[in-house]
Amino acid sequence: MKLIINQLNKQYSNGVKALHNVSLTIEKGMFGLLGPNGAGKSSLMRTLATLQEADSGSVFLGDIDVLQQKHEVRKVLGYLPQEFGVYPRFSAVDLLHHLAILKGFENAAQRSEMVDYLLQKVNLYEHRKKSVSAYSGGMRQRFGIAQCLIGDPKLVIVDEPTAGLDPGERNRFYNILSEIGEQTIVILSTHIVQDVRELCTQMAIMDEGSVLFNGSTDEALKLVTGKVFEKSLEKSELEAYQEKYQVISNKLIGGKPSIHVFSETSINGGFFKAEATLEDVFFAKINGLI
Ligand code: ADP
Repeated sequence: MKLIINQLNKQYSNGVKALHNVSLTIEKGMFGLLGPNGAGKSSLMRTLATLQEADSGSVFLGDIDVLQQKHEVRKVLGYLPQEFGVYPRFSAVDLLHHLAILKGFENAAQRSEMVDYLLQKVNLYEHRKKSVSAYSGGMRQRFGIAQCLIGDPKLVIVDEPTAGLDPGERNRFYNILSEIGEQTIVILSTHIVQDVRELCTQMAIMDEGSVLFNGSTDEALKLVTGKVFEKSLEKSELEAYQEKYQVISNKLIGGKPSIHVFSETSINGGFFKAEATLEDVFFAKINGLI
């Protein structure tokens, strides 16, 4: 089953054009949707999750017309929104039962089997009787994944899932997601380049409502391989370098600025060739250098 998004447009009533002719074809596996804040990622995710309307365009998940057959989509959709609200009084196991009933799982024995399976899958079975409000950020996100998997979805959408997680929690979360991606279409929307680099084989870069790149992470890297040069500077030199070169990014390393510059040909003056990263592709695209 493929998700085919064709020429999707959305303008909010305040005039902001959040989606501009967005076209993407997404197959089974982990797909990374990368973009800075305000790029339009959530607008796209909410549209795919049938929570808001598009102005024009089409979206098909297999045979299902996503923009028209909302009820059909919801049966096969798992969605973990950016702000995942929970009912604080409920234990994890009770809350999953409640959500499963809402999704139409009426048979108590089958539902119990599924809820236990999901709690085990996200490593929360031991903590199933705790109130979800007492969970750590990482546990809450894993609970979010469990609720998203109720009913064996064909399309899983996770919006900015790793914000606020410590590195250990983030790894656990990554592992669960990549396991799901072996069987399902998983769209991971994020502004964190590392999330995409570690998890996804296919990706898109979005900014200001438009898709700037769509392809494999390897293809993305090829756009800048051999064309990124690095130099460590004094702070006072930074402005002059920004004027003279196509600066992709500048970072502090040990308190000193270190710049990455994009150039088709090698450059002299103390620069050395850097190993190109997805972060270079991301910033070079966002800054209009490639
Ligand atoms: P992202 O998820 O990439 O941060 P969003 O889809 O949330 O991007 O936002 C895209 C643009 O649309 C931003 O400029 C944002 O301010 C605007 N926007 C988002 N939701 C609304 C809304 N309900 N009404 C008006 N503008 C909105």
